[in-house]
Amino acid sequence: MRSVLITGGAGFIGSAVARRLVGKGYRVVNVDKLTYAGNLASLRDVEDRENYRFVQADIADQGRIRALLEEEAIDGVMHLAAESHVDRSIDGPAAFVETNVVGTVALLSATLDYWRSLGGERREAFRFHHVSTDEVFGDLPLDSGIFVEDTPYAPSSPYSASKAASDHFVRAWHHTYGLPVVLSNCSNNYGPYHFPEKLIPLVTLNALEGKELPVYGKGENVRDWLLVDDHAAALELVLTRGAIGESYNVGGSQERTNLVVVETICDILDERRPLASGRGRRELIRFVTDRPGHDRRYAIDSSKIARELGWRHSVTFEEGLAKTIDWYLDNRWWWGPIRDGSYAGERLGAGA
Ligand code: NAD
Repeated sequence: MRSVLITGGAGFIGSAVARRLVGKGYRVVNVDKLTYAGNLASLRDVEDRENYRFVQADIADQGRIRALLEEEAIDGVMHLAAESHVDRSIDGPAAFVETNVVGTVALLSATLDYWRSLGGERREAFRFHHVSTDEVFGDLPLDSGIFVEDTPYAPSSPYSASKAASDHFVRAWHHTYGLPVVLSNCSNNYGPYHFPEKLIPLVTLNALEGKELPVYGKGENVRDWLLVDDHAAALELVLTRGAIGESYNVGGSQERTNLVVVETICDILDERRPLASGRGRRELIRFVTDRPGHDRRYAIDSSKIARELGWRHSVTFEEGLAKTIDWYLDNRWWWGPIRDGSYAGERLGAGA
């Protein structure tokens, strides 16, 4: 596997995968539409490397993607482009259907046509890797249950429903047309370059600035947290060593309630940057009206990818969180323009 096309490579996880693969000598072609969530600043470390190319394009543009696959002699596609924020999917579900479902089908069609044109060993070795989420499995009780690969799908939000649909289409392209696909379903990621509308970066930056810390409901919802670089390592393994037609669950085995996550961020920041008032940041926590249909708990059993591909997460949540907070403290250049409103995804991308 030498030449990899990554969709959504200007996003949070896609940029971590792109940085990793470029660093390891793969040729990486990053295709991203640069929505509000796409930020080329996240690729500053690799943008000048010879084995990296950025192309601004929509995955729904089938002709463009088909031509690019040919032009770059692509050996594998890693599909991460998506609308990814649950709250946005509640306010405006249409964009989620457009990119996550219609866009994925267009990408599959372009890839199938290209794959059929390949001969011999290249056709054998080719893979389409679909990157998905544990949210497709739906809601677990607070005190029992865990998602395995064949847990029935039961998505709750427009976001998870659109991802579930895309997973089904990917499997259909394998069963119907023989496209060599692999899939992975991952738990909540956190880490550097995470867009500050998501829980951990939002709370970190609000807490740093001494602002209120909004927590849904009573903060009892449980998520299994995984450091984004550990996810990127798992994705490389799935792409290069995963069995065709199989899916792999990826999780950190680090379940925490949202309240514990927020309190831990407060404590780490109090230690590193005490507030001038001398007060503890836990006092900034405000409970706000819960998200409609908010799933109580997600928990992932990662034993298949551990057993078959030798993957393991590398840090506890508290270690990874401390590293992540240190990154935000050291990299205001990245998040400052997003927080002060001078950042606009498309504009920044087009000019960069
Ligand atoms: P993100 O929102 O940070 O990034 C998505 C990227 O896709 C952005 O760069 C955006 O510009 C691009 N994009 C959106 N629509 C596009 C289109 N039509 N054509 C081309 N590019 C487009 O998302 P993320 O958190 O990095 O998630 C990446 C993938 O991983 C998604 O498929 C998501 O469902 C999945 N996932 C995310 C998590 C998580 O915790 N963040 C967990 C499991 C799975």
